[in-house]
Amino acid sequence: MEKIAALAKRRGFVYGSSDIYGGLSGFWDYGPLGVELKNNIKRLWWRAMVHMRRNVVGLDAAIVMPPAVWAASGHLENFNDPLVECQSCKRRYRADDIDDPTTCPNCGGRLAEPRQFNTMFQTFVGPVADDAAVAYLRPETAQGTFVNFKNVLQSTNQKVPFGIAQIGKSFRNEITTGNFIFRSREFEQMELEYFVQPGTDDEWFQYWRKERMRWWTEYMGVHPEHLRLRDYEPSELSHYSKQTADIEYQFPFGVKELEGIADRTDFDLRAHIAGSGIDLTYFDERSGEHFVPYVIEPAVGVDRSFLVAMIDAYEEEPVGTKPGDFRTVLKFKPQLAPFKIAVFPLLANKPDLVTRAREIYDQLLPYFATAWDDIGNVGKRYRRQDEIGTPWAITVDFQTLEDGTVTVRDRDTMTQDRYHENELLDLFRGRLGPGGIS
Ligand code: ATP
Repeated sequence: MEKIAALAKRRGFVYGSSDIYGGLSGFWDYGPLGVELKNNIKRLWWRAMVHMRRNVVGLDAAIVMPPAVWAASGHLENFNDPLVECQSCKRRYRADDIDDPTTCPNCGGRLAEPRQFNTMFQTFVGPVADDAAVAYLRPETAQGTFVNFKNVLQSTNQKVPFGIAQIGKSFRNEITTGNFIFRSREFEQMELEYFVQPGTDDEWFQYWRKERMRWWTEYMGVHPEHLRLRDYEPSELSHYSKQTADIEYQFPFGVKELEGIADRTDFDLRAHIAGSGIDLTYFDERSGEHFVPYVIEPAVGVDRSFLVAMIDAYEEEPVGTKPGDFRTVLKFKPQLAPFKIAVFPLLANKPDLVTRAREIYDQLLPYFATAWDDIGNVGKRYRRQDEIGTPWAITVDFQTLEDGTVTVRDRDTMTQDRYHENELLDLFRGRLGPGGIS
């Protein structure tokens, strides 16, 4: 983990937030390469969950929502974590995070009785900070979807079963944060609310368990042996859930939740019917029935997916002839890589090579995220691109000037093959496949 966090900072994936002021615990900033990786993860999710399905539509709801929403959803009452405080050193812990809820892991002092701590961030809307102005930063995107259920039904021709997908920021005032970006206070979620006819929810729950595992292996390219599906015991279920399964990942600090798939029943829609007085029942034209749909929700954090993408791709491999020589490589699936291709002129001080390499770079740029590197020797440039996961590197050399061919070096096999410059567009389009993300 330390190696990955150090690489992330050094190469511009993730920085501590506001770090010139000492940072703010639980907040992170994504750098030039981080924002590319993050966008690629979000696009892969959107593609699999929205664009590839006729019956799923997108939504982007506001982050700040009024207390009435959170009163109805049960978050004001239930979105709590058990907080314990050490009576000696005053450190605070989440009671279910520590082995012995009576003894301080830091100083061995006595911990006070747990109290319930609501983890929603409160803010005020408008110029007067009084009770009437209180609002909350959403701790999940799902409620923004439920309050728009009727809007979406009325403005589209979707029929149950159908889904509303959303990607956006969520905020939780977590008692303890840590493990790099695994648990933070500001994070992004990708959530699908899939509305189904009551009685068909068990079937759809099974469907989404499998579909989400498939996404992790096929779209994200995560090693299946690092993933596990775990069904919850009834005692673990949230207040709204009939059944839940977690997709867990083998992190360096243990097997932990990566994604949750929950059968939220009709809890939320019924809660908003009661809270708002608006009828959110669904009329099924085929059967003539009115019902409140059940909801299956696959919910995953973008930041946590980002961490998994980095950990799963990270490798150190011996190279060269000297013992101890190794390369660090991020073996991202090409669709995830911040840059797909890097273009190098063999020698930066030969104008003919630079001009020709620039032409090839300019040709590829509209189609693929392409990097330019002319610093140091080609070996060093390969190492730098390996470390940020660029799958292919093109070198323009003296032969290019003669016959128009270039070398294409593969990140994983480190082999180099010659292709004509006119073949490059089709070559990489073919390798990235349909929906290949540039
Ligand atoms: P926990 O019990 O660990 O606090 P949770 O079960 O409440 O988490 P969910 O509400 O199911 O989490 O959230 C869905 C997904 O959102 C999680 O699987 C995770 O990927 C992500 N997520 C939740 N909380 C955080 C956080 N504080 N930081 C980063 N990602 C988070």
